[in-house]
Amino acid sequence: MTAADRRAELAGARQAVLERIARACTAAGRDPAEVTLVAVTKTYPASDVLLLAELGITDVGENRDQEAAPKAAALAAAGAHVRWHFVGQLQRNKARSVARYADVVESVDSIRLAAALDRAAADTRTAPVDVLVQISVDGDPARGGAVDEADDPDHDLWRVAGAVAAADSLRLAGVMAVAPRDWEPDRAFATLAALSARLAERYPGATVVSAGMSGDLEAAVRHGATHVRIGSSLLGMRNTLR
Ligand SMILES: *Cc1c(COP(=O)(O)O)cnc(C)c1O
Repeated sequence: MTAADRRAELAGARQAVLERIARACTAAGRDPAEVTLVAVTKTYPASDVLLLAELGITDVGENRDQEAAPKAAALAAAGAHVRWHFVGQLQRNKARSVARYADVVESVDSIRLAAALDRAAADTRTAPVDVLVQISVDGDPARGGAVDEADDPDHDLWRVAGAVAAADSLRLAGVMAVAPRDWEPDRAFATLAALSARLAERYPGATVVSAGMSGDLEAAVRHGATHVRIGSSLLGMRNTLR
């Protein structure tokens, strides 16, 4: 495929996704301007990120540091300005690398990770990094996520949020979740919305709700998502499951 063909393909997919968001907002009585589209570009090349940026999509999500770091460098070298969202499970030994390019880390789910990211951000950047606390809405921390009233204090939602809020080089911006496979998306995002409302009462700046992917963005918008993270509907089906 030529670059012009790929650009046309991405432009069409972008239009279709924006229309889905607009329809979902209309149905929910919301203003589409309240919902930010984050393009999740994992497994796709930096050239696609550049085309998306030229099409006006300036929020980009990645889930692995070893892929994201070189892509962020390539975009910077091309003079493109995008906001990088790190959306994957983050190991503490990768915090330093991620802090160099990520504008938002959406997947902070433990006190220890918050502390590592805070130290990394203090050493590598001037502005604080925006942090979303990833929530496991079904209480199962296996696939990542802090838990409301967790048995393990390191993964307790309220303690993690407190640690992020107290960290000098982090800014608590809100919450993120992935709907569990065996839950109706509406149930998952309603649970997330309730926890988000409680968090925003305590921390008025924590208003971001990152929820919804290609398969369930309508349900997420219904339940107040401010950010939807869209991969396959924009870029095409990935060969791998991540
Ligand atoms: C891959 C991924 C997405 C995008 O998923 P699609 O189903 O391709 O839209 C969103 N969020 C996270 C955390 C992801 O890893």
